[in-house]
Amino acid sequence: PAPLAEHGPARIVAICNQKGGVGKTTTTINLGAALAEQGRRVLLVDFDPQGALSVGLGQGDPRQLEVTVHNMLLESDTEWDDILLETTVDGMHLLPSNIDLSGAEVQLVHEVGREYILSGKLKSACEHYDYVLIDCQPSLGLLTINALAAAQGVIVPLECEYFAMRGVALLMETIEKVQQRINPTLVIDGFLGTMYDSRTLHTREVLQRIVQAFGDKVFHTVINRTVRFPDATVMGEPITTFDPSSMGASHYRELAKEVIQRWQQLT
Ligand code: ADP
Ligand code: MG
Repeated sequence: PAPLAEHGPARIVAICNQKGGVGKTTTTINLGAALAEQGRRVLLVDFDPQGALSVGLGQGDPRQLEVTVHNMLLESDTEWDDILLETTVDGMHLLPSNIDLSGAEVQLVHEVGREYILSGKLKSACEHYDYVLIDCQPSLGLLTINALAAAQGVIVPLECEYFAMRGVALLMETIEKVQQRINPTLVIDGFLGTMYDSRTLHTREVLQRIVQAFGDKVFHTVINRTVRFPDATVMGEPITTFDPSSMGASHYRELAKEVIQRWQQLT
């Protein structure tokens, strides 16, 4: 990818699948880090009350954080740059979350324009970044709708395992409703096969089924299953710096190049 002469306006991308454990958070951290390695400025948004993204980026116990995405969403005078944290990766920043966010869904229900709160808060951030990646929680509730309303694109990680496609129809319906009612320019940037294990016939069959269903919307890059990902999480680092020469690191670098190309064609 070409180096950038200047940064922004950012493309906002929601990393979304209401199934847990499919690689959303791992993809957010490592795609973000790989994009930053390419000289892109990246903002990661932890939009899951579990705070796994914040933990995975070395924030320790996120309950210790005084201000988080929860404050940004619910307080009119708390903006993105009031909660912004640096990460170990140059050019990659974080809006952190913790369990406080679990109350937001109920609190937001009573807000005017409740689907657009995140979108509004990210507006002024976009001029400082090239990509904003939102790590969604495993549900299709109001928080995820806020992410889809703010985004231009969606990346759907799918675990190359039994039941990979379970629930995907419901996710597609939700995305279509968001397109029809609140965000007509939203597109699916791609489906990402994760936890691929080429040694098993089964995992190859699942990937084939994913390609049959979604055609060239499936990224050519597939992320292999390797324990280096959980290892890196424990160290609070992306795999691209924890184990730079690993296969996992090179897969996410490949994905970064592929998404940059797709996004350039879209804009
Ligand atoms: P989600 O955010 O969708 O719930 P995570 O990214 O947290 O999923 O991944 C779930 C678990 O699987 C984590 O422990 C993570 O370290 C691990 N994991 C993610 N991707 C891989 C992979 N490619 N290979 C092996 N383990 C992985
Ligand atoms: Mg997660």
